[in-house]
This record gives sequence, C-alpha cells and structure tokens, in this order.
Amino acid sequence: MAERTKFILDEADMPARWYNVVPDLPEPPPPPLHPGTREPIGPDDLAPLFPQALIAQEVTTERYVDIPEEVLDVYRLWRPSPLFRARRLEKALGTPARIYYKYEGVSPVGSHKPNTAVPQAFYNAAEGVTRLTTETGAGQWGSALAFACATFGLECEVWQVRASYDQKPYRKLMMETFGATVHPSPSELTESGRAILAADPGSTGSLGIAISEAVEQAAQAENTRYALGSVLNHVLLHQTIIGEEALKQFELAGDTPDVLVGCTGGGSNFGGLAFPFLREKLAGRMDPVIRAVEPAACPTLTRGKYAYDFGDTAGLTPLLKMHTLGHDFIPDPIHAGGLRYHGMSPLISHIYELGLIEALAIGQEDCFAAGVQFARTEGIIPAPEPTHALAACIQEALRCKETGEEKVILTALCGHAHLDLPAYGAYLAGDISDHALPDETLAKSLAGLP
Ligand SMILES: *Cc1c(COP(=O)(O)O)cnc(C)c1O
Repeated sequence: MAERTKFILDEADMPARWYNVVPDLPEPPPPPLHPGTREPIGPDDLAPLFPQALIAQEVTTERYVDIPEEVLDVYRLWRPSPLFRARRLEKALGTPARIYYKYEGVSPVGSHKPNTAVPQAFYNAAEGVTRLTTETGAGQWGSALAFACATFGLECEVWQVRASYDQKPYRKLMMETFGATVHPSPSELTESGRAILAADPGSTGSLGIAISEAVEQAAQAENTRYALGSVLNHVLLHQTIIGEEALKQFELAGDTPDVLVGCTGGGSNFGGLAFPFLREKLAGRMDPVIRAVEPAACPTLTRGKYAYDFGDTAGLTPLLKMHTLGHDFIPDPIHAGGLRYHGMSPLISHIYELGLIEALAIGQEDCFAAGVQFARTEGIIPAPEPTHALAACIQEALRCKETGEEKVILTALCGHAHLDLPAYGAYLAGDISDHALPDETLAKSLAGLP
C-alpha cells in the first residue's frame, strides 16, 4: 500500500472536551490585576465584558472542560480537521525529517479562529446577551466572530484596524455577509477612537486601539459583551481541540513528534496545538521540543519585557503579566496582520518563563519564501501568519538534512491566504522588505509600561 498522506478522524472520534494546561504546570501563572487597586481581579470586575461561563473558564483549575453539544454541532461543519504529512515538501527539501501539518484552513472562514468564536457566541447567547463587540486586525477574527454570531442569532459589531480595513475589502464583505457591522478603527464612535484621531487624524490604527474601542462599547451598552480572539486563557482552552485531534491522528500515523512549531500573535493557535502535547511531555510520555515563532518586526517573546501591562492602548483592560513590547507599541505594517499584537498570552508567557518552550523571531522575507515553497509543493497557500512557522519547520528540516536525523516535525497550518493574496503579490513583485525593530524604538515604548 502507498504511504499515507492524510490522517482523518471520524466525526465520532472528535474530542468532546477541551484541555486546561494550568493544573499540570509546576507553578500557576500570575493573576491579572485591577489597574486601580493593583489587586488580583475577581469575577465581578470582568462581568461587564464577559458572560459568567467564560469568566469561570478563564480561572478554572479543572483539567478538562466538556464541550457543549450545541458547540460540537457547529464544530462538525468542518471538524475534525485533517492532519497531513508534507511528503512533497520533504522531497523538495531532500530532508530525512518527517513533516506533518494540522490544517485549520478548512473552517468556514479559513482559519482556526472559529474554534473559540463559536463557544464564545454560544455562552453569551445562553446568558441572554444579544450583541457582541470585537476588534479585528487582519480580519480573520472578525470573520470568525461574525460567522459564530450568525449561528447563534447575535448581533456583531467589529472595529477593524484602519490599515487592514482599507487594504482588505474582502474580509469586510465576508463579515457583512455573515450579518456583522464593521467600523474602521480608530473611529469617531468611541472616546478612545476620538482621542487617537485628535492626536493623529491619519492614524492607521492598531489592534490595541481597536480593542479599546470594542471594550468601551461593550462596557457601556445594554446586553452587550466583548469577545477576544486570542491571548486569554479561555481562548487557548477552546483551541486545544486542535492538539487533542492531532494526538489521535498521530496514533493513526504511528508516529510521535520530536519538534512542534507554531506561529504566535497572541498565542492561541500555538497553545491550542501545543498544550495537549505539553501535557504528554510533562507526564513523561513523549519529549517534543516546543517552539514559538514570531515576526522580527513584533518580537514579543524574544525581545519584549515580562511585566504587567494593559491589553489595549487606552488602558481599559486589567493588567496582564505577559511578554510585552509596551501597550503603545505600533508594529510596522507587516503582512502577517494577525501577529501584530504588542503582548503575548499570559499563559504562553508563563510557560516560556518556566523554560518549557523555546521562541525565535523570523523576518517576513524568509517567511514568504517558505510560504511560496510550501504552496508549490503541498498546494495550499498559507496565510502570512503560519508562514512564520513554516519557515522554522524548513530550517529544522534542513538541519536534519545536514545531520541525517530523522526528526518528526509538527506544525499548525492555522489558515490559508485566499483573502491575503495581495501580500503574495507584493512578495512576487519584490516589494517585501524586512522591518528591523531598532532598540531605541523598543526602549521608548517599554518606558510607557504602567
Ligand atoms: C489570528 C491569527 C493568528 C494569530 O493569532 P494567535 O492567537 O497567535 O493564533 C495566526 N494565524 C492566523 C491564520 C490567524 O487568523
């Protein structure tokens, strides 16, 4: 029989619970703090923003959380997602390594984001919320939440970072088709937006600013809550369905990963893939190296400071202990919009401090080169974000070629680029350059830490 390329789980074998890594860690992560009192926040502090069920998941110490039947029903539209062995890429590289990728581009919006958008919409609807607000950078999260809100009959209002609102009309049309309302951010609709526009009428925005606008709206309006697409514990919890499926698929493949690689913006696709494998590692059942890859233009883990900072620009959120470039930091306009966030998930930051994962930063030219090589061998055009993980996979596979090691590499291919093709157009035209981040720029932005 020919060697297998695709490992598909039956619907009946889809995992029915999410995994919470916190109780398995040697130390718990530091708590979020109230910005006024600097004391750990309680559930009441979060109630204006999130429904009780999600607040409970944010702080749970249970190892597993059952996935509600209504959520599993929606997941079945595209889950379980396939695990592929990248045989053609391996051949092109001439590597003895075996490369696998877990493909999340099969979701309705083309990325892993609906894995958390769907349960977030479900729990909000179940508690009588009628409208969700959010921000979106590249447009992936806004599309995912718009789809999820349509599924559970919620209104959805999205603040889209101005730069991407102007560059990516198709994401806006997708959100509107699912029934959402989309505003460019900064907007005149919020105090936070007006303050930014007063200082800089031409501001192209940032995720931090868009979060301030969405949070401000949710805190003020009736029956309205806020939804975040990454960073928080409950988001990473929902994404662990990726890693739980991948574990089962590795059993089908009869293989065990030696190296896991994922791209990190806020950390959700990376954590979603890695945490179930980290559980196995901590239990001594396997020993993969786990590696986070970030853009050289927004190097949160590798050059940021591990400190308490705001999640948004206006300082409306609780203080989170995380690797941060400073909440005022506005990254250069690289094409991987989903990786342009000033902070990193507190959980990923903590796990990095514990020495359980590695991190590296790669410039976008190398990333697009990897994306094109992947497209020409495997036939999937990766979103600009996961090209960071692919570039690191290729580096590892080429090291194996030198040493002759038959390592098994696993990566999360967290989305496709069908709505990001102009970025590839720019690369093919030779118009992509690396944006170095000078030390002075970073020092200036870190000086603004609370
Ligand atoms: C949002 C997004 C990211 C970055 O977010 P994480 O929380 O770090 O996963 C990466 N890739 C894609 C395709 C995205 O949509």
